[in-house]
Amino acid sequence: MIRTRFAPSPNGPLHLGHAYAAMVAHDLARAKGGKFRLRIEDIDGERSRPEFVEEFFRDLEWLGLGWDGDVQFQSRRLADYAEAGERLKAMGLLYPCRCTRAEIAAAATAMGPDGPVYPGTCRHRPAGSDGDIRGAAWRLDVARALDLTGPLAWTDERAGPQRAQPEIFGDVVLLRKDLPASYHLAATLDDAADGITLVTRGMDLFPASHVHRLLQALLGLPVPAWHHHPLLVEPDGRKLAKRRGAPSLGDRRRAGEDGKGIVEALRQGRFPAGISLSEGLDQIP
Ligand code: GLU
Repeated sequence: MIRTRFAPSPNGPLHLGHAYAAMVAHDLARAKGGKFRLRIEDIDGERSRPEFVEEFFRDLEWLGLGWDGDVQFQSRRLADYAEAGERLKAMGLLYPCRCTRAEIAAAATAMGPDGPVYPGTCRHRPAGSDGDIRGAAWRLDVARALDLTGPLAWTDERAGPQRAQPEIFGDVVLLRKDLPASYHLAATLDDAADGITLVTRGMDLFPASHVHRLLQALLGLPVPAWHHHPLLVEPDGRKLAKRRGAPSLGDRRRAGEDGKGIVEALRQGRFPAGISLSEGLDQIP
């Protein structure tokens, strides 16, 4: 049975772009008699706020995009992420790194999907003392990991078959300095734990799936299909964002707008003035 998910981060209110993402995941599941799950990606301690989560629930009900089963919270799964991290360490695939963003930016010679590509400064440092490890982030040695797995493939429903290219990110952080997880590790483990068969998210996260496919192979997780949907963009081509004035769904709800009507317009491809759908094909490496 097909299972999709909507996985918002409670670091701000939802806006129309989120309504579109939730609608795509909801409708793909409903069209095939499957399940639509809701996951709250709330491990970004400094930015996550519980009051946004309450608003998400109200917004989704108001939009007519009800979810199936219990809501999952990443903050309750930290022990699972840490355990997977230990497994990867035991496989000799992670190494500690204490480089700062500024140091990485200064030493990087390439740009990746998330900015300057980590140049591998700490990759071959001899195992240090405990003091070295404390307060370090742990990075995945991507070349070594690919040696172990061999070439990997994955499929996006819209873009077709892909060869996994996790190396475009460089050696990604899997365990952050402040947390036994990172977005890549947590999202991959959660999709497996929740039995997600179709990972639905925006084209802006298309490159992340290369890394997730590698993690699935390393951790022996099932491989879903992916559906990266186009993004709602402003006239300058940039994603809708609350900080650039996209009205929040909560404000529209409280102003008495019709949430189901808003979703119906999105389904029919009718968007507010100045807003359009971008295929986001530039995200495909
Ligand atoms: N939490 C991410 C976001 O709000 C989505 C992650 C995902 O769907 O994998 O953009």
